[in-house]
Amino acid sequence: AKERGRNDYYFFDSAMNANAHQQFLLQQDLGYALERGELALHYQPKYGAQDGQVVGVEALLRWQHPVHGAISPASFLPLAEKTRLIIPIGNWVIDEACRQMRIWLAAGHDQWSLAVNLSTIQLASPGLLGVVEEALHRHRLEAHHLTLEITESTAMENAEESLLILNRLAELGVKISIDDFGTGYSSLLYLKRFPANELKIDKGFVTSLGQTGEDAAIVSAIIALGHTLGMRIVAEGVETAQQRALLVRLGCDTLQGYLLGRPMPADNLLAHCTGHEAL
Ligand code: C2E
Ligand code: CA
Ligand code: CA
Ligand code: CA
Repeated sequence: AKERGRNDYYFFDSAMNANAHQQFLLQQDLGYALERGELALHYQPKYGAQDGQVVGVEALLRWQHPVHGAISPASFLPLAEKTRLIIPIGNWVIDEACRQMRIWLAAGHDQWSLAVNLSTIQLASPGLLGVVEEALHRHRLEAHHLTLEITESTAMENAEESLLILNRLAELGVKISIDDFGTGYSSLLYLKRFPANELKIDKGFVTSLGQTGEDAAIVSAIIALGHTLGMRIVAEGVETAQQRALLVRLGCDTLQGYLLGRPMPADNLLAHCTGHEAL
C-alpha cells in the first residue's frame, strides 16, 4: 500500500485503498512527529520571469518518518487536517519559516517574500491572526515579508468568512496569494473582493502548455484576469524551457518549478541562488 512517489518520498494512498489500521498508526505517529523533531521545511524559490532573479521562497513541509522514511505532505496533510494536528503543526511551520527568513534578511535578502501555505482548518481557526503576529514580532520581520498561500478551494469554501480573515491579515500588511488557481470554483465576485496580491496558476495548466492551443488561451485569460484585478501572476510546476518561454511571452510575472529550482533544505538555498544569479 505504499509506493515510491515522484519526489523520492512515499505516498500512503489515502482513504481509497490504504488499510484503516495503517492510517491509524500513521495518525498516531503524526501526533509525535513535532516533538520528536521529524518535521522539517524545504524551500522552493520563486523567480522573476523577466530577469530570473529570486523574488521569494515557498516553505514546503516534510515528514521524515523513523520507519517509513520521507512521507509526502499529500499523504499526511489530510490526516493532519482530520485530527486538527494541522493547528500545532501549522503554527510551527509559520514560526520556523519566519525564523529562517530572519537569517536570510540578515544576509541581505530583504527584497524576498517568504511564502507559507495555509490549510482550510488553519484559516478558520480563531488563533491564526495572533500566531502570525507573534511569529513576525519574535523574528523581527515586517509583515510584507510574509506571503500566505491559500488555495482557491479553501478561499471559496466559506467565502464570506475567508474574506473577513483575509482582510484582517491584509490589514496587518501580510501578502495573500491564491494558490492552485483554476482548480476550484471561483466566484469572480469574490475574487475581486479578496485582498490578494498574487494568483498562482495551478501546475495542471502549466504541464499541458504547448500541447494544445487551448491551454495557452486559458493561461492567457487567467493572466489577463489577474492583472485586471491588480495581482501578480505566478506559474508553478514549470518543468521545461518551452513552458518557461511561453509563460514569459504570455506575460506571467513569476515562475516556479523544477526547471528553475526544486524545494531544498534552507542550507542549500543561498548557494543555489548565488549560482543561479551568476548564470
Ligand atoms: P502546493 O502549495 O501547490 O506546492 C507545490 C507542490 O508542487 C509541492 O509539492 C512542490 O514540491 C511541487 N512542485 C514544485 N515544482 C514542481 C514541478 O516543477 N513539477 C512538479 N510535478 N511538482 C512541483 P509538495 O511539497 O509535495 O507539497 C504538496 C502540497 O502540500 C502543497 O501544494 C501544499 O498544498 C501542501 N503543503 C506543503 N507544505 C505545507 C504546509 O506547510 N502547510 C500546509 N497547510 N500545506 C502544505
Ligand atoms: Ca503553495
Ligand atoms: Ca499550488
Ligand atoms: Ca497544490
